[in-house]
Amino acid sequence: MTQRLAGKIIVATASGQGIGRATALAFAREGATVWATDINEASLKTLAGESPNIRTRVLDVCDDGAIQALTKEVGTIDVLFNCAGYVAGGSILETSDAEWDKSFDINVKSMFHMIKAFLPGMIAKGNGTVINISSVAGAVTGVGNRFAYSATKAAVMGLTKALARDHVNQGIRAVAVCPGTIHSPSLADRINASPDPKKTWAEFNARQPMGRLGTPEDVAGACVYLASDEAAFVTGSIHLVDGGWTM
Ligand code: NAD
Repeated sequence: MTQRLAGKIIVATASGQGIGRATALAFAREGATVWATDINEASLKTLAGESPNIRTRVLDVCDDGAIQALTKEVGTIDVLFNCAGYVAGGSILETSDAEWDKSFDINVKSMFHMIKAFLPGMIAKGNGTVINISSVAGAVTGVGNRFAYSATKAAVMGLTKALARDHVNQGIRAVAVCPGTIHSPSLADRINASPDPKKTWAEFNARQPMGRLGTPEDVAGACVYLASDEAAFVTGSIHLVDGGWTM
């Protein structure tokens, strides 16, 4: 291990599986103390034993009261990693108000509350990094059947840039990471639930220039760099990790 994050305290959301889990583990391997959170207690239990650097807490990112309580327990942090996300399917005509609101609550309002809770501590010590998981779907490329999801992920890019601009002179960096198609448990569930899973898997692979889906570890590697002091001159930027899908 190269200890690129030694001494850093990181709060992460959606650490139970997929990109969130791989990134929490990568942060811990690089020497950070990671407060790994998720709404799913069972998945956190399997993560807890993986590294002595990981502390787990159940957190629903839509519960601002619980976010406030976590802020009090954890105190000032160095890095906030906002990963929680929900994928609503469908075009505009197939999207209900409830799905639209749920998408914005989990994907966007959660980040508003998480950042608002942890930012004052970062500003007080003059140093802090916020890494928000967006997606190439939305502002980078139009993806079919992802109307509400794409709108939320474009919003994540907007809030990230606004945050970076407002606090650039206070030692705060804010960046967004845009994964392409990543082989996570929820992606596998969505594909396997399609009418013809074999065909859908083939289609997903076929649209990848590298001939394969991304792995959660592919995204985690970028997040380790962005959380580290190697990225000290990097802010307000959008980082694609999509295997060239949108090049
Ligand atoms: P996933 O969907 O497999 O897992 C999501 C995790 O979030 C689960 O552990 C779940 O328990 C947790 N979660 C759900 N609702 C929550 C809530 N209200 N509060 C706290 N935790 C909650 O993970 P993934 O596919 O790796 O996606 C992670 C992030 O990456 C999401 O923001 C997603 O939109 C984004 N993303 C994923 C892909 C992909 O292809 N997998 C592509 C682009 C962007």
